[in-house]
Amino acid sequence: MNLMPEFRLHRPQTLEEAVRLKTGLPGARFVGGGTDLLVNLRRGLGEPSDLIDLGAVTELGAVRHVEGALWLGAGVTLAELAQHPEIVDAYPAVAQAARAVAGPTHRAAATLGGNLCQDTRCIFYNQSDWWREGNGFCLKYKGDKCHVVVKSDRCYATYHGDLAPALMVLDAEAVIAGTQSARRIALSELYREDGAAYLTLGAGEALAAVVLPPPGGRRAAYAKARVRDAVDFPLAGVAAALRREGDVIGELRVAISGTNSAPLMVPTAELAGRPWNDEAAAALALALRKTANPLRTTVTAPKYRRRAIQGMTRRLVDGLWNDARGG
Ligand code: FAD
Ligand code: SF4
Repeated sequence: MNLMPEFRLHRPQTLEEAVRLKTGLPGARFVGGGTDLLVNLRRGLGEPSDLIDLGAVTELGAVRHVEGALWLGAGVTLAELAQHPEIVDAYPAVAQAARAVAGPTHRAAATLGGNLCQDTRCIFYNQSDWWREGNGFCLKYKGDKCHVVVKSDRCYATYHGDLAPALMVLDAEAVIAGTQSARRIALSELYREDGAAYLTLGAGEALAAVVLPPPGGRRAAYAKARVRDAVDFPLAGVAAALRREGDVIGELRVAISGTNSAPLMVPTAELAGRPWNDEAAAALALALRKTANPLRTTVTAPKYRRRAIQGMTRRLVDGLWNDARGG
């Protein structure tokens, strides 16, 4: 680990002040709990001139109701999300995904905003400075070639967040704050499939909140495969939300993490109106194979991650289907 680089620390009290600071300081980075960013900085991944700590912005730390929807402030910690009675009751997949992140000490500090905006990962990137230098660095940072997809002009580092898929299957929206105004987009639109430029946030923008519409008869769940169950990123993560209408699928939404440079929705529209059986499961497995693109960015082989995500998805949807019997 390196020493922390030199930086100026700012601690704004309001969101308005935070985005104004960020807009005026092109080399600045926001800090939520710091459990992703500070680890990366200690590895020499970035030298921001300024850090803007969002911890004192109280408006980011609330869970509140707005016009029938539940607003989760970007500063809410994962420990709070995991045990908030309303989230546990109405959106159990979100609490489940929050509980599955890292270990308890991480979750006490880590925020929703930091989890959603966390950096992408790769075995050629999450290494010490001297290791990366010995390998000529890489396209994502300081270098000019990719070691995973040689001759590629883009980075394939993988997005490994747990919360994003669980929120995406529930139709969550992201509220983005800028200096002039706030905008609201589908959470999936916060991301782009490029390991080096994986967020669509503008230079001065911050993620302010995530909006969850009422669950509307959907049941959802989240599952992940990881090396160490006690504390690890998903090698593959999947969330599913199902609305069963008698003997057929009313709606099935599936989202994945840990396989691509962005968390992605899997196309499932053709399954609506069909019963959940081996044939439907085979169609979903095909859609998963077409969407997931695990490469050599983790310690575990792409083939394993491809199979794991298919197995977990089948088990997840089987469980939701049976739980919703007659619903
Ligand atoms: P920070 O480190 O504060 O920020 C992360 C990034 O988000 C930074 O680029 C920061 O600038 C940006 N950011 C923060 N808030 C905002 C905002 N409001 N608007 C715009 N940008 C913002 N993650 C998982 O998902 N699952 C895991 O299992 C997991 N395991 C881990 C295990 C270990 C050992 C470690 C060290 C990390 C692990 N992580 C895991 C990563 C990290 O701990 C979590 O993703 C955590 O939720 C990050 O939140 P944070 O508030 O600490 O983020
Ligand atoms: Fe670097 Fe390629 Fe890995 Fe991206 S995918 S971090 S460019 S080696």
